[in-house]
Amino acid sequence: MDGHDLLSALAGTADFEAAGDAPRSGPPARARRIPPDLSGCITHVIAGSRKMPVLKAMTTTACERDCFYCPFRAGRSAMKRVRFTPDELASGFMALYRAGAVEGMFLSSGVVRGGVTTQDAILDTGAILRRKYGFRGYLHLKLMPGVERDQVREAMRLATRVSINLEAPNATRLARIAPGKQFEQELLTPLRWVEELRRDPDAGLRASSTTELVVGAAGESDLELLSITDHLFRQLRLARVYYSAFRPVPETPLADLPATDPLRELRLYQASFLLRDYGFELEDLPFTGQGDLPLHVDPKRAWADQILVHQPVEINRASRAELLRVPGIGPQSADRILKARVEGRLRTLADLRHIGIRAVQRVAPYVLLDGRRPVEQPRLF
Ligand code: SF4
Repeated sequence: MDGHDLLSALAGTADFEAAGDAPRSGPPARARRIPPDLSGCITHVIAGSRKMPVLKAMTTTACERDCFYCPFRAGRSAMKRVRFTPDELASGFMALYRAGAVEGMFLSSGVVRGGVTTQDAILDTGAILRRKYGFRGYLHLKLMPGVERDQVREAMRLATRVSINLEAPNATRLARIAPGKQFEQELLTPLRWVEELRRDPDAGLRASSTTELVVGAAGESDLELLSITDHLFRQLRLARVYYSAFRPVPETPLADLPATDPLRELRLYQASFLLRDYGFELEDLPFTGQGDLPLHVDPKRAWADQILVHQPVEINRASRAELLRVPGIGPQSADRILKARVEGRLRTLADLRHIGIRAVQRVAPYVLLDGRRPVEQPRLF
C-alpha cells in the first residue's frame, strides 16, 4: 500500500481523536502535499518552535465495544470499516514520510477480538517502523482498554508517547456513557503502570503519556473533570489531558443529546494549563455553585478580577510564581521580566513592551510598576 492509498482509506475515519499539541495556532507546518479532503488524517505536534505534521491512523475502524458517544461503536452502519495489517500501515506511513508529507505517526484502533489482540497489532506496527524501516521520529501509540502490563512496557520501548482515553472523570460517569468499560481496571491502571515504569531506573523508559475526556455527555461538572486532571498531572505526570466537546453521532444512544458548547472545551484547556504550568491549585479556579467554570471569561482573568485587582503584583519585586498569576504573563514573559530586572527597574508599560511583553493592556489592571498603577497611553496610530 502506498501513502495515498492509506490516506484515502483513512479519509473521514481519523478526525475524531485529539492527539496533537496546538491545532489552533503556531508556525506553518511542512505537510503541504495533503489534499484538503484528507487533512482530517493529519494532526500537529509542537517540535521546538514549529508544528510537526503527524499522520493519525487506525489499525481498524471496526469495534466490538459499545461506547454510547463513539462513531466506531459496534453495529453502526454509517461508519466506513477499514482494516490494515501492520505491514500495510508501516509501509503506507513510510511512503508519506519519505515524500515529506508527515514526520510522525499517531496510531489508534477499534477493539477487535479483545484489547490484548488489538494491542498486539499496534505494537507490531510500531516494531516494523522502528526495526525494519529504522524510523526514529515521533510515534504515539494508543493503549487499548484491557492492555497487559508487558504490552505497556513494549509500547513505551517503541513510542515517543503513549495514551489511553479515560473518557469520563470517574467510574460513575463512565458507566453512563460506556457501560462496557471498567474505569479503574481497564483505563486508570495502565496509566499508573506507565508512571511506575517511567520511575523505574532499571526500565530506562521515558515515553510521555496523555489521556482524553469526553465533555458534556455524562452530566459531569467541570470540577469533576479538573479534579481528575489535577490528579493525573500531579500523581501520574501526564503531559497533557485532552478534552473533547461531545458531538452527537447518528445511530448512537446519545444521538439526541445536544452538542457541548466548544467554549466549555476551551475553558477546560485554559484551566488545565493553569494547573499544569502556572502553579494554580484546584481551589484557585473560579467554579460556580454548580461546579462549572464561567464561560464568558477565561479562568485566569476571573481569578485575577477577584484577587489581584485588590492586591496588585509589583513587577519589580514579584517572584516568578507571582508573575505567572498575572493575566497576559506566561512562562516566557515572566522569564523576560526577571532577566530585565537584573539590568534596571521597569517603570512603565512601554518598558514592558520594550522587553517583548505584548499583552500589556491585559497586564495593566493587575500590577504595580515601581509602586504605581500603570497608565496606558492611548496609541496615536
Ligand atoms: S472501544 Fe474505543 S473505538 Fe470502540 S466504541 Fe469504545 S471508544 Fe469507540
